[in-house]
Amino acid sequence: MTDKRVAIVTGASRGIGRAIATRLAADGRHVVCVSRSQGPLDELTAEIQAAGGSASAQTCDISDFDSVATMIEGVASEFGRLDILVNNAGITKDNLILRMSDEEWDDVVNTNLKSVFVACRAAARPMMRGKFGRICNIASTSGLVGNSGQSNYAAAKSGLTGFTKTVARELGKKNITANCVAPGFIETDMTKDLPAAVTEHIKTVISTRDLGKPEDIAAAVAYVTSDESSYLTGQTIAVDGGMTMC
Ligand code: NDP
Repeated sequence: MTDKRVAIVTGASRGIGRAIATRLAADGRHVVCVSRSQGPLDELTAEIQAAGGSASAQTCDISDFDSVATMIEGVASEFGRLDILVNNAGITKDNLILRMSDEEWDDVVNTNLKSVFVACRAAARPMMRGKFGRICNIASTSGLVGNSGQSNYAAAKSGLTGFTKTVARELGKKNITANCVAPGFIETDMTKDLPAAVTEHIKTVISTRDLGKPEDIAAAVAYVTSDESSYLTGQTIAVDGGMTMC
């Protein structure tokens, strides 16, 4: 049993998830950093500990649903509590609708949507036992306004927003909130291979005229998962430099 609030952050090995894990640890949480790759997680936990924070590493493939539930139950049992769940891990397999295979659809919907359902279902019981819970699902502006080539991804991310509202309605009376943070274009491995012309065009439709940083998303997640955000639930907060404003 630890006195610190215990947070699980999936997809913590790099990009947005890494920034979220670092921020939550700096805010005094014990952060369980989850992804499929042990090496980067070990580096991250060592970095957090060197900065005076508390973190541990846990490998898990979130598209293997049984292992997601086992991982979450294991964390709750090891630490005697589970306070915060950030479902951040996600993938893209882009293709135009005419060319999209069933496999591309299923892989993205399973990894980006079904895994979040499985994780929230497993987290609900320990959060209810602790009479406190903060769930933050990382959606996307693609799920809010659509994006050519991303019918699978947009469907999964849009699905997250409806799913999260329902979780918020079901668990609000148990002092468990559920919200989405929807990033716009953020500088990570996911966006680094975009052609320069596409990136330049994207900048013209972003009010702040630049891509965001993983730390911009982490700051929103820090608030949404904090004790003081108790009256915020069922919302999707777009952190996108004013690109969508919807
Ligand atoms: P990255 O591709 O940089 O990182 C993805 C993370 O997810 C990695 O840590 C990866 O870890 C993990 N991951 C992927 N698949 C699995 C899996 N099956 N099991 C466990 N972990 C997995 O992505 P970003 O940081 O850019 O994106 C993070 C989230 O933000 C995603 O949900 C994404 O959809 C969303 N987002 C990102 C935007 C952007 O512009 N970057 C825009 C909108 C939304 P590993 O490979 O080590 O397992």
